Amino acid sequence: MTSNRRTFAIISHPDAGKTTLTEKLLLQGGAIHLAGEVKARGAARRARSDWMKIEQQRGISVTSSVMTFEREGITFNLLDTPGHEDFSEDTYRTLTAVDSAIMVIDAAKGIEPQTRKLFEVCRLRNVPIITFVNKVDREGRPIFELLDEIADMLALDVSPQMFPVGMGGQFEGILDYATGAIARPEGPSKEFLGTRDADAVLPEQFAEEAELAQIGYPEFDLEAYRNGDLTPVYFGSALKNFGVTELIEAIAKYAPPPRPQPAGEEVISPDRDEVTGFIFKVQANMDPNHRDRIAFMRQVSGTFKRGMKLTPSGLGKPIAIHSPILFFAQDRELADTAEAGDIIGIPNHGTLRVGDTLSEKNQIRFTGLPNFAPEILRRVVLADPTKTKQLRKALDDLSEEGVIQVFYPEIGGQWIIGVVGQLQLEVLVSRLEAEYKVAAHLEASPYATARWLKGEEKALDEFEKFNRATLARDRDGDLVFLAKSPWDVTYQQEKNPELAFSATKER
Ligand code: GDP
Repeated sequence: MTSNRRTFAIISHPDAGKTTLTEKLLLQGGAIHLAGEVKARGAARRARSDWMKIEQQRGISVTSSVMTFEREGITFNLLDTPGHEDFSEDTYRTLTAVDSAIMVIDAAKGIEPQTRKLFEVCRLRNVPIITFVNKVDREGRPIFELLDEIADMLALDVSPQMFPVGMGGQFEGILDYATGAIARPEGPSKEFLGTRDADAVLPEQFAEEAELAQIGYPEFDLEAYRNGDLTPVYFGSALKNFGVTELIEAIAKYAPPPRPQPAGEEVISPDRDEVTGFIFKVQANMDPNHRDRIAFMRQVSGTFKRGMKLTPSGLGKPIAIHSPILFFAQDRELADTAEAGDIIGIPNHGTLRVGDTLSEKNQIRFTGLPNFAPEILRRVVLADPTKTKQLRKALDDLSEEGVIQVFYPEIGGQWIIGVVGQLQLEVLVSRLEAEYKVAAHLEASPYATARWLKGEEKALDEFEKFNRATLARDRDGDLVFLAKSPWDVTYQQEKNPELAFSATKER
């Protein structure tokens, strides 16, 4: 049976237009249900903890949410990835829960640093990407330059599916290669692309370019796209609602339905009868006095029904899931059923952790949910040194939740915490104080990044003997190399070819 689910994320650099595009996609879909709203009612709204305030003050979202909408028989699950500089590991992990992604690029700017970073995470798992070149209602860079930049910077084949006829003030419409029709802006405010004009004749200056763009790049190839080797490119304006319908139709048509997920040696198919899933995110906001959390499970297989018992791999005994949040169905908060590809929010008190597998039979463990090497490392300094035990507990908890990573150096007692985004540091300090009553601050550390060490035991022992000062153990006791610079990593890797210095770690 082919699933009608499309579970995807949007990756982009801040300001490229992700929020605007998200709104337009949701409008096209009709059924709108924003995950953030589910809990933000009544008492819960008043009881936001400090780090929620940080979110509010900065006007950014630390926590990704889930938006589900339907269109022409297809159910779309859009997982939001916080798109700002201050993104966290959540952003990365969200990408482990999707089957495809849309990459939004500003036509005037091309590939920007964060687009590239997020793209690399997608590539780790061969997540297929549809490209949307946004803001064609404004003057942008030449189309060939943009297409070549995507191809060169990301080492990806590009296959334009449309051609914008002019940009900015000269914008006349969008030519669809598949049909040869041109859709033109319509209405008094020239918003929305109107009816397609199948017999349109392109102005000469565009006709040649449009043809060059079509023959100069590879043809669309579904398999190459699904393997993550080729990206179809769409053009439009999220603001003016140009090209959004074409984009959503492309997701419906080409984006993969729920993919099988690796579980060690096995691969779990979405057709499996048993309900299985994995936790990719835990949101512990709301009231700090009540340790309630929402764990986000990406369902991998089976048909979930409310009240069902699932066993979390971290716990070993089944829990009944009575009040799941399904981000679907306009006004129903409580899910009745969910399918492979859907996201279920499971309220819990800290039993569910990022990386946990949930299943009916408790026989499988999903793999491929990595930790990502932190790019910001800090020393934690306690205000009251007698609170060491509480601090360790808190750091262990918070690292399990995926808020931070913690490294215990082999020499010396100064613990190092690692994050991929600055905001996580503020969240850490405020949660330490609010939830664990531990006053601490963070100091600079000499380290720039960290790498997990893998290799034969003998080689590891040997390396450890001579490099103890730069080594630490993570929460699971795994050996980590703390690097003073990226160069340091390259140098050590060259010197120790028998070891792998890995930027990710499988849980
Ligand atoms: P995000 O940071 O990626 O979520 O970007 P936003 O959706 O918030 O958009 C950033 C800015 O670009 C806002 O001022 C938008 O109004 C504007 N914007 C978004 N899409 C378009 C577009 O298609 N054309 C134009 N001219 N502006 C756009």
